[in-house]
Amino acid sequence: MNLCVIGTGYVGLVGAAIFSDWGNKVIGVDIDEKKIERIKTGEMPIYEPGLSDIVLKNISENRLTFTTSLSEGIKDAEIVFICVGTPQSDTGAADLSAIWQVAKEIGQTLNGYKVIVTKSTVPVGTNEKIKQIIKDNLTTVHEFDVASNPEFLREGSSVEDMMKPDRTVVGAETAKAHEVMRRLYAHLGTPIVESDLRSAEMIKYASNAFLATKISFINEIAQLCERAGADVSTVAEGMGLDRRVGRHFLNAGIGYGGSCFPKDVAALYKTSTDQAYDFKLLRGVMEVNKLQKDNFVRKVKRFYGENLSGKKFAVLGLAFKGNTDDIRESVSIEIVKTLRGLGAKIYAYDPEAMPNVKNTIGDKIKYADSQYGALKNADALIIATEWSEFRTPDFEVIDSLLKGKAIFDGRNLFEVKYITDMGYHYESIGRH
Ligand code: NAD
Repeated sequence: MNLCVIGTGYVGLVGAAIFSDWGNKVIGVDIDEKKIERIKTGEMPIYEPGLSDIVLKNISENRLTFTTSLSEGIKDAEIVFICVGTPQSDTGAADLSAIWQVAKEIGQTLNGYKVIVTKSTVPVGTNEKIKQIIKDNLTTVHEFDVASNPEFLREGSSVEDMMKPDRTVVGAETAKAHEVMRRLYAHLGTPIVESDLRSAEMIKYASNAFLATKISFINEIAQLCERAGADVSTVAEGMGLDRRVGRHFLNAGIGYGGSCFPKDVAALYKTSTDQAYDFKLLRGVMEVNKLQKDNFVRKVKRFYGENLSGKKFAVLGLAFKGNTDDIRESVSIEIVKTLRGLGAKIYAYDPEAMPNVKNTIGDKIKYADSQYGALKNADALIIATEWSEFRTPDFEVIDSLLKGKAIFDGRNLFEVKYITDMGYHYESIGRH
């Protein structure tokens, strides 16, 4: 099939690469000229395991091309995917300006029947508005359909997630649009949930809000464990083995961040208030998430006092989670900013996210070139992101470099007894 993918970020670039790897002819479109130039020369603008090989292979086999021209991108496409960003606006609602812009341009340049598919996460009712905008901007009469095909990939494993999704959700208004989408996805052999537009849009928000709820739930249990003398890791294991509960997203920590959960939970809450419904549970989820970060900083303050000037902390991990360079809404960075505000000096290391951090907070913190490089003469080690290379470090080296004997572990990476037996003051989340 001939496909066009508009927006070549974490979702669009991976989507374009995988679709082409299935044998389709794909054109990726982006307004960011530099990004398109980098991709064309084989340089990936994002860190995503396995992505580079697939992009390069399909470029060289002439199935995958890139352009900044939307009209060129959609000209021959049977399906046009919209994968532009939908960040949080000041009201908490999703900022849909990029979606409206793309819909307008599609209308102005449409040259024949296509299915216009939104993969971006958009609130209920958006696809109906996209359809109207396209219609309003048509320069010649053409038939088209809109469809909602929300994306569920996880950054860090997005290539695998797109190749083997648990399910594919397609919302559409016509049998023809459903048939076209089935042709694209049926070969995967995974379930396809076919629905109306609004239900598909809601499935995405409900899924993310539910996962965020699991995280806030286990973080509340962690609070209770700290007070009641229980161990949240064991509690999560005991809960998670029950298939009705499931082990995923039951890791207590410093709260969820990233480019999706915070904005999607806020947007769903805004949708509910717009519908004159008070989604009480979601309010709690957001509040618990904010408090979880504050509780972690409080552990540091309890140990050193409110004034941290003169203290130097080694912070491992800046990305919002392991295996990605994405720092959007990273709780680690919020913690770094708070500790700096209290006077602390920060020496940080992240395997992939440091270039992005340098572009945002610059030289306000120091950057090390290895996890051990950050530790020299630090008063404490702070673990803020769960990169796997942080899990089993050489503690003899850590011991020889750290000045203070304190570890604050926001991701529960280490065994409590092992660390405390070495004489460390060790604080993690919901464990003793
Ligand atoms: P991103 O910011 O990485 O990429 C968006 C891209 O769209 C950018 O390259 C930008 O230059 C481009 N763009 C913006 N306006 C454009 C326009 N008018 N024409 C062409 N290109 C334009 O965003 P992302 O993380 O890929 O997310 C995209 C959407 O997918 C969002 O709605 C997000 O919520 C959703 N989503 C993201 C993830 C994830 O893990 N990142 C997972 C599932 C769903």
